[in-house]
Amino acid sequence: MPELPEVETVVRDLRPLLVGRRFTSAWAGRLALRKPWKAAWKKRLVGRRVEAVRRRGKWIVLELDDGGRLVIHLGMTGQLTVTSTDEPRKAHTHLRFDLDEPIRQLRFRDVRRFGSATLFPSEEEVEASFTASGLGPEPFGLDPAYWRQRMASTSRCVKAVLLDQGVVAGVGNIYADEALFEARLHPSLIASALGDEAADRLRQAVASVLNRAIEGRGSTIRDYVGGSGLRGAFQNEFRVYGCTGRPCNRCTAVIERVRLAGRSTHYCPQCQKS
Ligand SMILES: [Zn+2]
Repeated sequence: MPELPEVETVVRDLRPLLVGRRFTSAWAGRLALRKPWKAAWKKRLVGRRVEAVRRRGKWIVLELDDGGRLVIHLGMTGQLTVTSTDEPRKAHTHLRFDLDEPIRQLRFRDVRRFGSATLFPSEEEVEASFTASGLGPEPFGLDPAYWRQRMASTSRCVKAVLLDQGVVAGVGNIYADEALFEARLHPSLIASALGDEAADRLRQAVASVLNRAIEGRGSTIRDYVGGSGLRGAFQNEFRVYGCTGRPCNRCTAVIERVRLAGRSTHYCPQCQKS
């Protein structure tokens, strides 16, 4: 499932290809995504120019020149790419948007259809929707006092807290495991028992792991590709995620896997003491 680094990579790839371009037509397939595409949105979208492309959590926001916002979530298997119009349309392509630059198209492909594309009339409505879904702050530049307080006030394990999009936006299973390894914290530790020093270490580890993953263009486990269709490379840098049974590259102990917060959780039993 794409997490923050993958979504950020899509945004950075799409930005130079979309900003300043106008949508000249929109086509939606028969099968619905997680939220259905409304026919009325086509009329509202055609003729609009893209003014900015940005990310919020795992959401991609296209800012349009009439104040409207096309908001896209990649779900589990979504691929949002700008391709040549000539390029054969792959199966599971659910949305296509022609651009005023000849021969280019924005396409949304999603095998499992957990993704969505929604046209909001204004920035305010997008923000209201994010607030209603309880979306927490971005992981970069997090206020240390906020983070310490969130850790200190819950009896959940740190792995579960990292996955909570209301505490911090954009972190999923992969980068939660990698950040806990970086911070040398066992994933089953109770968050309120961390103390300020360990909480600070974890906050910094989250930002640093996510930044490195963005530099690596995200991780391709199955379907993920960036906005220009290229796969990610950060999966080659994983130190615990998917490394069960392999030696830790810090201490050579064997990486273990447990089920925690409903998710497969990977850690080094030597570096991440409980
Ligand atoms: Zn280790």
